[in-house]
Amino acid sequence: MLHEYLSRLASEYVFERAKSFSGSDFGNFVRHDIAIEAKKRLLFLPYELEVKASVGQSRWASVPWLAFFDPLVTDTATRGYYVVYLINAQTEEVVLSLNQGTTEVYREFGENDKGRSILARRAVDITERIPEFFERFDSGSINLGSTEKLPAGYVAGHAFGRVYQADAIDPNQFYEDLEMMLAAYKALVDRGGRTPVDTMMEESGSTDILETRSYVLSRRIERAKNVRLRVLERRGIKCEGCGLAPVEHYRYEGPIKNVPLDVHHAKPIRELSEGETRRYKIPDDFLVLCPTCHRVIHKQEDVADIEKLKNSISFFHKKIVG
Ligand SMILES: [Zn+2]
Ligand SMILES: [Zn+2]
Repeated sequence: MLHEYLSRLASEYVFERAKSFSGSDFGNFVRHDIAIEAKKRLLFLPYELEVKASVGQSRWASVPWLAFFDPLVTDTATRGYYVVYLINAQTEEVVLSLNQGTTEVYREFGENDKGRSILARRAVDITERIPEFFERFDSGSINLGSTEKLPAGYVAGHAFGRVYQADAIDPNQFYEDLEMMLAAYKALVDRGGRTPVDTMMEESGSTDILETRSYVLSRRIERAKNVRLRVLERRGIKCEGCGLAPVEHYRYEGPIKNVPLDVHHAKPIRELSEGETRRYKIPDDFLVLCPTCHRVIHKQEDVADIEKLKNSISFFHKKIVG
């Protein structure tokens, strides 16, 4: 069970990391067994999350972790925001945290107090966007038993969570917390994450908050790497509006993921009520469109009406030989 595995990680880490890093069985236990156990907990979820566990790269990390990534916002611990279990090996504690990628913030603002103050401010933004979840967790700051720069970033970037003593985890509370935390994560992504509302409204061209959120989420879905590739593979690489086919018409020879076509999320999110779990169905909820048809369909009242789009097209391509 996941709580037992994390408990073992927290209580044995100090002992294990005194040994050689390369080929460590304990390292494999974390990366492999813990990640698999965590994935089992996600089987009931109607949307996708990626799971990764780490004890460091090429040397033991001071704080090992297990993280859950929503592919719509990140697929790595170095950027974006995500749910993570951080281990304090000194106090033998497991810390559940809604946290942020510190590396990207450090890179932009410096690996110092300035960078950490940015992380702390964004952590506040996160709590304010999902106040009803924030209330159900502990809001105090966390201690990870290390003053290194990466753990210091995690401390600053912590929005809220829960601390468990490794030898006294109550499984009921533990799994209830995890479920609640993943719901908080989803709500945060659905509401625009850490992006300020004026930036979102500018992008959506709307002043209505729900319309803005659904527009931003739709665009995020359309651009997500894993979504895009699977839609292109299932629906084909040809514009479903005007018929433009880059392989035929532009002699496009690159990989399918880079083909100059867009993926359009044709099921308006505002039809889903807030809190509804499934965001999209691949490939049914999508259309493959060239960038021009994509812009045009977004101007239509009904962004799913492909027949209307087709009927509005009156050009034909002509090869000019010169
Ligand atoms: Zn087109
Ligand atoms: Zn679109």
